[in-house]
Amino acid sequence: MISLHGLTKVFAGGVRALDALDLTIADGEFFALLGPSGCGKTTLLRTIAGLETPTSGSVRINDTDVTTLPPGRRDVAMVFQDYALFPHMTVSENIAYPLRIRKVPRPERAAKAAEVARRLSLPDLLHRRPAQLSGGQQQRVALARAIACHPAAFLFDEPLSNLDARLRLEARTFLKRLQRELAVTTVFVTHDQAEALALADRVAVMSHGRMIQIGTPAEVFQRPATTFVAAFIGSTPMNLLPGEITSGALHVAGATLPAPAGVPDGDVVYGARPEYLELLREARPGAFPGTVSVLENLGTSTLVTLETDDTLIQAVVPEGDEPPIGTPAWALPHRSLLYRDDRLLRP
Ligand code: ADP
Ligand code: MG
Repeated sequence: MISLHGLTKVFAGGVRALDALDLTIADGEFFALLGPSGCGKTTLLRTIAGLETPTSGSVRINDTDVTTLPPGRRDVAMVFQDYALFPHMTVSENIAYPLRIRKVPRPERAAKAAEVARRLSLPDLLHRRPAQLSGGQQQRVALARAIACHPAAFLFDEPLSNLDARLRLEARTFLKRLQRELAVTTVFVTHDQAEALALADRVAVMSHGRMIQIGTPAEVFQRPATTFVAAFIGSTPMNLLPGEITSGALHVAGATLPAPAGVPDGDVVYGARPEYLELLREARPGAFPGTVSVLENLGTSTLVTLETDDTLIQAVVPEGDEPPIGTPAWALPHRSLLYRDDRLLRP
């Protein structure tokens, strides 16, 4: 278990990279930290690892306050984006390095390195050096080194981001299977929302050193707490349209919809995922009118952009069902969300 209390980091120069974070990650949980570049993900991971000293607040690992302990005494293993392998050491020596630091005798180290290498499908590479490996193999060696000493937690800082798209998907599945098998608490940092949703039991969405929302992948996808989360999560960005409620009716993007009960009159932001908009060839009450202006092929589906009087609306339709460019179309919402003052309104 990892728990953070009031964790704050202000760098010299005044950047508040972590702003009073409170968080508990359960034993065995796969926890993803998701957010744009510069939001404080790496700083948080480095603070948990002991590579960065917090300005205030505390870090506990399995009920021990480790805030003042050096990295070597925290029983965590970190995997970096660039893998940080030792170039002059063989794969076997790299994997066994944490054991060497712990003064495990040489024959035992070699046996352990061989065992871990087998598990990660690296056994034929034990005598090579990192420069003689592909990116995917280097990434596995970094993983092998992390698991060799049975840490209480894994800390991953964008470990898949240097792999090409295909290898990245393979490595993702591999990593998830490995984490399930080992059941080790894992904090996984990424700026890739698809990666976070695919891997994690829970996701925290960060912005400017704060947690904006913490929830299961389904929760952050279906009920983003703010428009920032709504815009950040999803493989196609959510439509976020300015609207207004007046005497029980919601006016948005040229359509009038019934307003949800109990919501006072006033401005709102209407959110609908492109996947939840159905595209019609004729007008229907509650459908947004527009003209088809862009078609983007997504493989089995097409992303259609509709231009309306004052905004753009995107809908995903099955491949082959897209209306031609320049023709009128109506987007009918099947699921939607309402925000006011940048907070999600409960339906
Ligand atoms: P992320 O990993 O989410 O991209 P970082 O944790 O690396 O973000 O950085 C968070 C913020 O802290 C950024 O504004 C960054 O410029 C700043 N920062 C990170 N490390 C240092 C440092 N050593 N000194 C000063 N500012 C830093
Ligand atoms: Mg980073």
